[in-house]
Amino acid sequence: MKYDVIIIGSGLAGLTAGLLLTKKGYRVLILEKKPFVGGRTASWDEDGMKVESGFHRVIGYYKHFPRVLKKAGINMNKIVMWEEVMDFRSARKGDVTTFGMAPVHGPLKLLKGMFGNTDTISYKDRMSLFPFFINGMKDYLKKPDQLDQVSVKEYAERHHVTNNAFHLVLVPLTAGIFFLPPERFSAYVFFGLLAPSLPRFYKMRMGGFLGGMSELFSDPIARVIEKQGGTILRDHKVTRMIYENGRVKGVVAEGQEFYADETVLATEIGAAKKLITDSSVEHACFNNLLQLPDVPAVTIQFELDRPATPYDRTTFGAGTSLASFTEQSRTTFKHVPGRMSCILAPAERFINMESEDIYQIAIKDAKKLGLEIEGHVVDYRVVKHPKEFYSLEPGHDWMRPDQDTPIKGLTLAGDYTKTSNFATMESAVESGEIAAKIVEDEMTKSAL
Ligand SMILES: Cc1cc2nc3c(=O)[nH]c(=O)nc-3n(C[C@H](O)[C@H](O)[C@H](O)COP(=O)(O)OP(=O)(O)OC[C@H]3O[C@@H](n4cnc5c(N)ncnc54)[C@H](O)[C@@H]3O)c2cc1C
Repeated sequence: MKYDVIIIGSGLAGLTAGLLLTKKGYRVLILEKKPFVGGRTASWDEDGMKVESGFHRVIGYYKHFPRVLKKAGINMNKIVMWEEVMDFRSARKGDVTTFGMAPVHGPLKLLKGMFGNTDTISYKDRMSLFPFFINGMKDYLKKPDQLDQVSVKEYAERHHVTNNAFHLVLVPLTAGIFFLPPERFSAYVFFGLLAPSLPRFYKMRMGGFLGGMSELFSDPIARVIEKQGGTILRDHKVTRMIYENGRVKGVVAEGQEFYADETVLATEIGAAKKLITDSSVEHACFNNLLQLPDVPAVTIQFELDRPATPYDRTTFGAGTSLASFTEQSRTTFKHVPGRMSCILAPAERFINMESEDIYQIAIKDAKKLGLEIEGHVVDYRVVKHPKEFYSLEPGHDWMRPDQDTPIKGLTLAGDYTKTSNFATMESAVESGEIAAKIVEDEMTKSAL
């Protein structure tokens, strides 16, 4: 059977494009190499333990992600638990500092975080962050290209952030958000993550999911796609795109050929580069993409016989490999007495390490942060993402490709493609929306 559209990959980018195109009545085929949909927003059962690709937070200013959920009949507010504060635990000083982040939903906590004084982060340390953040936002809006040439570390030095504020706030923030130390984290990307909160500051807060992401949204979106007439084939790895006479005409998966008028390549960056190369789709438009480096991510998830912390809250672990983590037994995984999900940094250190060695390091670092989990671990899993993120280092943002390509029949989607966001659920959905629009325009043009 010939389809109107083939979508390679069922992450949020592919699911979004599939949802929007089936809604318009197109015959869509989604091919996914894994046994489940959702990509980096999947959760699954692994030998008796519920795991997820990594703990995720929705940011209150997101617009594209809630919009696609709504189109699938899901109310985002019903699937997230909002947080107004975040914790910074320090290995150097051994205590916890809480910062508010919600000007409307938690103004007092925000003010206390900004102007408070503790043994760990003094008033002077906090004040030193103001010129850094204010100038960063200004430069993001006025000189984005120049800002992308500078790392967060260089920018912090330029604006005299104190050593303490740098190590206790900026190091854990950059590692916890995108697994990179401040010397490798583009200042443009860092402030770009905060900038959308300016016009939508009243929405600023973070949301943790009230269940596994597959059951809350990836599977429900897939069901709507199927209900609208789309086909999803899991365990179908695309090995090549069929590229003939300057046009992508379909794909090969599991030794079978599938044909369509339009193909949306919606895999993560590493797989996208491989498929473009393996299919010999040669064009100068892919030069930047092929040179845009990818970086890994690694997480460790513990099932415990009691909660690791007194509350489920996003926490950054300054001075340890536990870049960011959260207890989840009261929110995401309520079926167990304790559940801690951690993102490890630097990911390059862990990507080729045995799980047992990672476990030992994580347990030791948890102890340094005052978390007594040793002796309470019922089970654990390490989840690795080898080539799934584009690098957010200085000088790379301009290399992200547009969704539209000069190759007939081929559109790109995925969090690495050019959007107003960076490597998040929001950018994945935005890219899927753009790709769906391009495909629809092409289909309309060729129908005329
Ligand atoms: C640990 C971790 C924490 C994160 N935290 C947050 C957060 O707090 N907030 C936030 O907004 N975002 C977060 N993200 C990022 C977010 O998950 C991603 O940006 C987003 O899900 C990417 O979606 P995507 O569709 O672009 O790619 P993916 O989800 O990677 O989807 C690509 C799909 O393509 C499939 N595929 C690959 N190759 C082939 C092939 N050859 N044939 C068929 N299928 C193929 C893959 O299996 C996958 O399903 C986090 C990600 C991770 C890993």
